[in-house]
Amino acid sequence: VAAAALTAWSSRFAAMPIDETRDRAPAVRPDPRRVLDDLAELRNLTATPRGADRLAWTEGWARARAFLAERLAEIGVESERDEAGNVWATVDGVDRDMVAVGSHLDAVPEGGWLDGALGVFAGLELLRAVAASGRPPRRRLALIDFADEEGARFGRSLLGSSAVAGRLDPSRVADLRDAAGVRLEDALAGHGIDLDRAPSASARARGLTAYLELHIEQGPILEAEGVSVAAVRGAMGISRHRWTITGRTGHAGSTPAALRRDPMVAAAQAIVGLRALASGDEERATVGQIEAVPGIPTAIPERVEFTVDLRHESAVELARLEREFADVVRRAAEQQGCASGAEEIFAVSPTRFDPRLLELAGEVCAAHAGRRLEVVSGPGHDAVELAHVVPAAMLFAPSIGGVSHSREEDTAAADLTIAIAAFFDFALAVLEAFDNLPIDR
Ligand SMILES: [Zn+2]
Repeated sequence: VAAAALTAWSSRFAAMPIDETRDRAPAVRPDPRRVLDDLAELRNLTATPRGADRLAWTEGWARARAFLAERLAEIGVESERDEAGNVWATVDGVDRDMVAVGSHLDAVPEGGWLDGALGVFAGLELLRAVAASGRPPRRRLALIDFADEEGARFGRSLLGSSAVAGRLDPSRVADLRDAAGVRLEDALAGHGIDLDRAPSASARARGLTAYLELHIEQGPILEAEGVSVAAVRGAMGISRHRWTITGRTGHAGSTPAALRRDPMVAAAQAIVGLRALASGDEERATVGQIEAVPGIPTAIPERVEFTVDLRHESAVELARLEREFADVVRRAAEQQGCASGAEEIFAVSPTRFDPRLLELAGEVCAAHAGRRLEVVSGPGHDAVELAHVVPAAMLFAPSIGGVSHSREEDTAAADLTIAIAAFFDFALAVLEAFDNLPIDR
């Protein structure tokens, strides 16, 4: 399939004669079985009865990284840590420009065995195969294990990859605290990272030609479609607000309906209205948190606060959803004699992955899965951060039941094998034959 993908790529873009590609390409034979073995070993190393123990900036995470370092040492590949705590392991190529693959070893507390680890150990096997081939690849190959992708301890996701993308402002995260009151800056210092210097990690992005990531979908679509691997078109934009509907409190027993200004009824109407607005496949709308004040069974609430998380791959559609929901809340509040207002708590623009890489990824996935499926990621990923500064692409493997961030997280071995093999073909094609990337940095 690698040769087929290379041929397809070359004929489409005519960038490099295929024979020259073949001559230059070393006999690289990465093996998905070794990835599954490494993943199983990591699982044993960091398992608890409730799930994986690899929370960033803790001992469990350090243990996972030590395991990766051991594996890298075995294959004679050197690794170093950048200023933000990301680990880079590199094999030199004929040219100076570099293709990076990777993901993250950190996990949410009591997390799953595949989230992040799949991409890291698929990358390790690629490095292992390239190193064992005895001939340098055309481009340099780097494996990156990003630090603190999950943000599960301090609430700041994508810490390491945002530093590489030049999008980390230390002053905005230094004082974040974990549940035990530990400051982020101090936790990093405990692992030898000076937060103020973390933005310097962005210098490394300048040497990158492409960043490629294999990840589990963490959702139900691939399974529902019966597809073992799919190309990811981009990531949805996110709009997150905290809405407050304010009415008038009163005794549950003394106040008849006509004399109530009940914010809970308005909130319920608004939430049902939100489902009607966002009932399709393309948008996501979630009310995940709601609170009534004073919040006792015998009082009409004075106010109700709830979060609304909206996602869409189109910025225009996302803005439309936001506007239409604001109308829904306003109308529901007015009907109940209440006031309403919102405060933005988080916003991310949609990301499109590099169209040339996406085209190749689609071809390779179709060859392996028997069908071409393109999906959009709802969750954020390191590749989404990198896409701001480097041509990036992602492949997804299915998640059984769509479950992730849980010890139940799993993917059938047959699907994993196919997805890993597709990723190898994709990465090797980019490493050896891809000429349509801008290197004008
Ligand atoms: Zn992940």
